Order: sequence, then structure tokens, then C-alpha cells
Amino acid sequence: MLATPILAEFQALLGADRARADADTLALYASDETPRACPPEAVLFPNGHDQVKAIVDIARRHRLPLVARGAGSGNVGGALPAPGSVVVSFECMRRVLAFDPADRVIVVEAGVVTDEIDRLARGAGLMYAPDPGSGAYCRIGGNLAMNAAGPRAVKYGATRDHVLGLRAVTGDGRELRVGARTSKYATAYDLTRLLVGSEGTLALITEATLRLVPAPQAVATLRVCYADNAAACAAVQRVMHQPVLPCALEFMDRRSIDAIREYGGAEALPPGTGAVLMVEADGAADDVPRQIAALRAALAGPGMLELHSGFTADEIARLWTARKSLSMAVKKIAPLKINEDVVVPIGALAKLVETIDRLGIDHRLPIVSFGHAGNGNLHVNLMVHADDADEMARARACRDALIDAVLHLGGSLSGEHGIGSEKRRYVARELDGDTLAMMRALKALFDPHGLLNPGKKLPDAA
Ligand SMILES: Cc1cc2nc3c(=O)[nH]c(=O)nc-3n(C[C@H](O)[C@H](O)[C@H](O)COP(=O)(O)OP(=O)(O)OC[C@H]3O[C@@H](n4cnc5c(N)ncnc54)[C@H](O)[C@@H]3O)c2cc1C
Repeated sequence: MLATPILAEFQALLGADRARADADTLALYASDETPRACPPEAVLFPNGHDQVKAIVDIARRHRLPLVARGAGSGNVGGALPAPGSVVVSFECMRRVLAFDPADRVIVVEAGVVTDEIDRLARGAGLMYAPDPGSGAYCRIGGNLAMNAAGPRAVKYGATRDHVLGLRAVTGDGRELRVGARTSKYATAYDLTRLLVGSEGTLALITEATLRLVPAPQAVATLRVCYADNAAACAAVQRVMHQPVLPCALEFMDRRSIDAIREYGGAEALPPGTGAVLMVEADGAADDVPRQIAALRAALAGPGMLELHSGFTADEIARLWTARKSLSMAVKKIAPLKINEDVVVPIGALAKLVETIDRLGIDHRLPIVSFGHAGNGNLHVNLMVHADDADEMARARACRDALIDAVLHLGGSLSGEHGIGSEKRRYVARELDGDTLAMMRALKALFDPHGLLNPGKKLPDAA
């Protein structure tokens, strides 16, 4: 529990309603999507950049750790409060500060919900391209901190590729304005790209200047069934080696297909379907049919059982609802999912999927794999029962072997979910000592007292 005089300082700044330490509030903000909880000392709800700066000043004086929070939808413990910390929730910072369709730019506060940005842009014929599956509730500050992405990343890139500039407060209370409002910029060190993906460990992001792109006039979707994972991965390779880039190229293995049957979109699949690709093209209305023809040609090959096209807008929405429900739907296989978010070079995707199958057999675990095949980024879910010690031990060994295999294939621990508290023990396997030392030096520069999101992103020093 936060000392009363410190709470009073925060309440004097924000109002009693926006600086809370009651048991219900603390419980509500004690966890994110990871199955762990640690109640914070207090939860603060600033209403703008200046209040964030003032919060950091108070925290610095009292050496209080601060954990930034968007919607708490992260799956790696990024927003999980550290012991003795205070949560800074950005949910009251939801203003759109500027929207300039002519410049294709929008400036938003960190608490704006991701899909709201896209909705606003669409009204002006534009689009905010990053589309995480949690877009209906996650917040842009959380997306920026994690460099979130989604199915459209294969064509449009991740959050980092859509940020022009940021306003932020460092751990020692310095105010940063980084980047620009222009589509080209070569003046400064690229601190914008550094802060994106920094998981709340370097600065609290208060405002973002985002790049918008023209909204496509038309979208068409293909659902393609294959006999097995190998046939689907070979098709992914063919698609990624021809000139028409799809705006989604999603993979689902057999267990994923079973998990989403009740959500629709997986009924009436041909018998023997072992893997499905969802492929989408977008662009000018008269160009999409040409793109679809090229994609059909690339998708056809050994092991293809069916290629379904001509979906209506409603059917496409149902397919995506089913796909986006997967994160939750897999939980009916076992109550706990150990969720890895590995990424490999596209040429190694088939090998990765084969390795995952083998690991599932070797460690006697149901593994559900799905994800953004066009980026080589798979969500690999080890489904377990937390109260089964033997199963948990096998899962740990399996996870270990998976990480080693991914690194051996030239890949990385995380494609989009980040490191948080859950994966940091693996980071030193991927990064060499000098690189890690440089990251620690940057952390010390931005946050000399180590107050911002301690115990996240970086592994403990040896
Ligand atoms: C069903 C489901 C589907 C998902 N699908 C995707 C997907 O397709 N792609 C994807 O990338 N992720 C996905 N995620 C993961 C998650 O939604 C993303 O990581 C998202 O970016 C988190 O946003 P949030 O607002 O919930 O942030 P939180 O979980 O609250 O925080 C995430 C991290 O950001 C930091 N942070 C938050 N706000 C700020 C700020 N203003 N300044 C500095 N640091 C800050 C936090 O400290 C924490 O480290 C999914 C999650 C779920 C539950």
C-alpha cells in the first residue's frame, strides 16, 4: 500500500478519482493476459502529457517504480505490475489531437483504441494499417510499446512502420519530442524507432504522430485447404516469391481449425484438411481480380485440396472473427496456454512447422500453431494443465527446445508480442554480450533510476 502522503500528492495532482489505491482497483490492474498477478501500490489515470510528466517527477522524488498500461491485453507480462510499483493507466488519454487527411497524418494521445484510429481514417478514405487481433480494445500506446502487428503486416508492416513521431517522458522526467510530421526525415538519431518496441522501459509515450495510407477500394479473400502443414508452407513460399504481395497470408494448423469450428468459417472443409491458409488481396477495385488470379496460381500445388473464393463481405467478416478468436478458442484444448510468438526468415517456415510437430510428439504435448505465415511469424501454443507437474516440466523442456530451434533457423524470440517478464530469460540466447550491454546503457540513459517497468524486456545482469 502506497504511503498516505505520496498518495495524497498524486491525488492533489490528478484528483482523488484518478489516483486510486482501493482494493478493487488494485485487483483490477494486477495482471495482463499472462496468468500471473501482482497488485500495484496505486493506479493513476493522467488526462494528458503534462500530468504524465508531473507523475514521473513525483515518482522520481520517491523512487517509485512506474508501470505504463494500455488495455492490459499483452501476453508477455509487459503491463504486469512489478512489486511495489504504481500503474500509470493511459485509458483517460483518448483525444485525437490533430487529423490531417491531406497530409495523411493523425496525432493521437496514447490511450486511443487502435481500431478507433482506423475508423476515423476510413471516414476520409484513408486507413491505419496495423491491425492487431486485439484492435477493438488495445490502445495505441501499448501497440507502440510492443511494436504490435497483425495480418496486414505482410504487406503494410508493423506499428513501427507507421509512426512518424512521438512525445514521451523519460524515467527522469525529461520531455522528448522525437521524429517529425513528414514522410521523409533525416535530421536526428532515430529515437522514434528506438522507443517503439521499448515496452515502457525507456519512456512513457504520451502522444504519437501516425502515418495513414489510402484505404483500399476493394478486398478479396481466399480460403485454401491443404492436406498437411508441409503443403501449406510450400504454398506460402510460392506466394512470397511472386510479385503480388497479399495483404494477409495467415496459416492455421489442424488443431487451430478444430478450435474455431464453432465460430464459423471452418465448417464444410474438405475431408482430410490438415492446414488452412487465409489469403487476402486489396487495392484498386479493378486491380484486385488480377491480384487474386496471380495468388490463385501461386497457391495451387501438390497437396491443395480446395481453394474457395467469392466470399461476401459478411462471410469475410465471419472468417476473420473466427481467425481472431483463435487466441481464446485454443483454451478449450487445455486451460493454460504457453504462448510463443516466434518468427523465422520466410524460407525457414516449413522447417519451423516441421520442428514444432516433432517437439509436440517428443514432449507429448498438444501444440496449436497459427499466425502470420507471410512474415514467418507463428503463435505456437503449448496447451497444458498448470496443476500437472509432469506436463509442466515437459512444457518447459519443449519451450526451451523450441527457442533453440528458432534461433538455429535464424529467427527471433518474438515477432510482435514482445518480451515483457515472460521471455526475458531467453534474451541472452539471442543477443550477444556487447549488444545487451549497449541496451543496458541506453536504459540507464533514459531511466537512470531504473523506475520504468523494472524486470521487463532486459534479462537480469549476470
Ligand atoms: C485476443 C488477443 C489478440 C491479440 N492479437 C495480437 C496481434 O494480432 N498482434 C499483436 O502484436 N499483438 C496481439 N495481441 C497482444 C496485445 O494486444 C498487444 O501487445 C497490444 O499492443 C497491447 O496493447 P495494450 O494497450 O493492451 O497494452 P498493455 O498490455 O497494457 O501494455 C503492453 C506494454 O506496453 C507498455 N505501455 C502501454 N502503454 C504505454 C505507454 N503509453 N508508454 C509506454 N509504454 C506503454 C506496457 O508497460 C507494457 O509493457 C493480442 C492479445 C490478445 C489478448
